[in-house]
Amino acid sequence: MPEGDTDYRAARLLDRSLSGRVLTRTDFRVPQHATADLSGATVRATLSRGKHLLTRIGGGPDGEEWTLHTHLKMEGAWRVLERGRRWPRPAAQARVVLETDGLTAVGFSLGIVELVPRVREDDLVGHLGPDLLGPDWDEDEALRRLLEDPARPIGEALLDQTRLAGIGNMYMAELCFVSGVHPRTPVGAVAGLPRLVRRGRQMLALNKERAVQSTTGDLRERQRMWVYRRDKSPCRRCRTPIRVAMVGPVGRERASYWCPSCQPEHAAGA
Ligand SMILES: [Zn+2]
Repeated sequence: MPEGDTDYRAARLLDRSLSGRVLTRTDFRVPQHATADLSGATVRATLSRGKHLLTRIGGGPDGEEWTLHTHLKMEGAWRVLERGRRWPRPAAQARVVLETDGLTAVGFSLGIVELVPRVREDDLVGHLGPDLLGPDWDEDEALRRLLEDPARPIGEALLDQTRLAGIGNMYMAELCFVSGVHPRTPVGAVAGLPRLVRRGRQMLALNKERAVQSTTGDLRERQRMWVYRRDKSPCRRCRTPIRVAMVGPVGRERASYWCPSCQPEHAAGA
């Protein structure tokens, strides 16, 4: 799943490319919006809320202000190309096409494509916790939400976008490592939770401007992560082999990576 910084970059790409431009053609290749046509409308802006992308479009022939809600989920991507250029992925994967007089923006394999009146935007993202990359980031509120269920494993709580928004599997693993916390530690037992959350915000902020993601600060291939997808490889700090296990609620398990020596799991009741 893309992390919050990936969504942020996708939003910025769309925002820079399309904002202020009039759409000459639109194509929504999802059943519920197959007949929608926003040609003649102007793209106002695109912003990200956690992992959700909101593209505001309005002032067209129908006079309505719309929000196009998209979500990259696992495989999704937005690409902006000069009009007439060859698409980087098969046309069958396209879910949304937005065209201006010079550019084509194509959303491939999007997990969500939803067109709603702007006034309903809050229904789409109102459930989200504070956005780590949002202009209205609220640390106290994020901590309050995380601690609502103090027995919940920290790894699971960090992935819950209604607690705080923007952390996917990769940053969850990396954040637990740099904080020396086992992903299964109950949230209420994590020493220095505010510091962990602040580090999460730093990680996303550092990575939002660059094309490759790194939490170690080293941008070389295979040197970018502390533990994520490094199972069986030696820990960069102590050489202990990194472990991996599936964690999380049944049906929504995710791979979790940790160093058993740098991130000891406390015995039950300890
Ligand atoms: Zn270690």
